[in-house]
Amino acid sequence: MKSLKNNAITAMCCLLAFAAPFTASAADYDLVILNGRVMDPESNFDAVRNLGVKGGKIAKITKDKISGKETIDATGHVVAPGFIDLHAHGQDPYAIKLMLRDGATTVLELEAGAFPVSDYYNERKGKSQANYGASSGHVWARLEAMDGVDPHGLGLYSGAINATAKDGSKWSTQRAKPEQMKAILANVEQGLREGGVGLSFPIGYYTAVGSPEVNKVAGLAKRYNTFITSHVRYLAQIPPSGYLGLEEVLSVATANEVPLIMHHVPSNCLNLTSDCLDLIDQANKAGHKVAGEAYPYTFGSSIIGADYLGAGFQERTGMDYSDITYVKTGERMTKELLAKYRKEDPGGMMIMDHIKKEDMLAAFKREGVFFGSDSVPFSDDKGGIPAWDAPYGVGKGHPRGAGTRGKVLKMVREDKEIPLMEAIAKLTYLQAKFLEDMVPDMKLRGRLKPGAIADVTIFDPATVTDNSSIETGKNSLPSTGIPYVIVNGTVVVKDSKVLKGVYPGQPIRNAVLN
Ligand SMILES: [Zn+2]
Repeated sequence: MKSLKNNAITAMCCLLAFAAPFTASAADYDLVILNGRVMDPESNFDAVRNLGVKGGKIAKITKDKISGKETIDATGHVVAPGFIDLHAHGQDPYAIKLMLRDGATTVLELEAGAFPVSDYYNERKGKSQANYGASSGHVWARLEAMDGVDPHGLGLYSGAINATAKDGSKWSTQRAKPEQMKAILANVEQGLREGGVGLSFPIGYYTAVGSPEVNKVAGLAKRYNTFITSHVRYLAQIPPSGYLGLEEVLSVATANEVPLIMHHVPSNCLNLTSDCLDLIDQANKAGHKVAGEAYPYTFGSSIIGADYLGAGFQERTGMDYSDITYVKTGERMTKELLAKYRKEDPGGMMIMDHIKKEDMLAAFKREGVFFGSDSVPFSDDKGGIPAWDAPYGVGKGHPRGAGTRGKVLKMVREDKEIPLMEAIAKLTYLQAKFLEDMVPDMKLRGRLKPGAIADVTIFDPATVTDNSSIETGKNSLPSTGIPYVIVNGTVVVKDSKVLKGVYPGQPIRNAVLN
């Protein structure tokens, strides 16, 4: 042993002087993760092993001793495929930093999407700490075509929604005229040609849209071999309900023969959640590809101008004014305050207590439903986006942007709602599996096996927890018990710290056809 060690030291000395000839013998791997409980939801493999990473891929999973240029001791920890979030509106560096602390290695904006899609990808190239991607967003394509406002990639960041308010927000209040329809189709198609991952229909925010428009635009998804996602019409438990909203997009998906993701099922279906989940299962049994998604919270967040908060929302949603909080001031709404903020700041964020625990758990436990955070951008005291190195806790907004995965893993430990392996599948593998036929890169993510891309999350199953909550000052506290996160083979979270200036994130993108 001693002489081996000496040799290694000698080799390292020489490596400095004559790098090339000794590279192969210096270490077998770029990175080794030793003695961790390796859990792979694809094969159900679950055993203590050493894992070797080389060239950004998992090269070996073995009982044998292995060595690498970098070593992580994962004793007592679970080594899991990096968590995948398909529903993250928080796409700025501060939001991504919190996502990484929560174990997410792939953070996609599929629900609202982007326009122009190329702006989104260009802005992040070489500058993202996690893998990134966005869908071609029908909402932004529509807003550009009907209100003439350029969303510059992510409209939630560019103030595009407020910019349309002065001309009556035609994108959300009107049906498209024939010439507008042409422009909408051209915009959406441009997004798909620029590599948008899927085509998104958050029509719950523009319920004036006609179903024929949705159906026609969805035809583009078929042509470009991709899928559709939806925040469905209606957030209600009485007709017209979220269930009816699901039926609409389900019929659009099946008629166009494209897969469908229904985002945050409990948030739209409320006390009809189990019925919505049954409908999704029924569609899958009939041979369609439909995924339900959920976050592990009983309260949601969105823009205060959302049309489901219009007159009569109490009966539709089961909420009262005081169940709605305006994020900027922390005020609970009254009739007067809600009317005031809907008029003055329709794009401002609110938090609402609208889901019953039993409905949240029904989605949590249902086989095939995966977790998506629905993170919204955090804002600071001045209403701006906190900088990357702003302190944790400064960001205000729904705690799901910081704690979704920590909360799921804590619930698995404390409440035993589902087995740990199933939770890991719902945090990563099911998302990769849904996307892989359309985005081939995803065949190599969401799994731990030789040849897979080395996106890896290492957590302590005995202590992992969320720390973010709805309490002021705690919205953006990071999860703990997730000391290491590796993206494309590069360590980006080390000893529970996100490393500054390390940008291993790669684009998750469809083929660019322009
Ligand atoms: Zn949504």
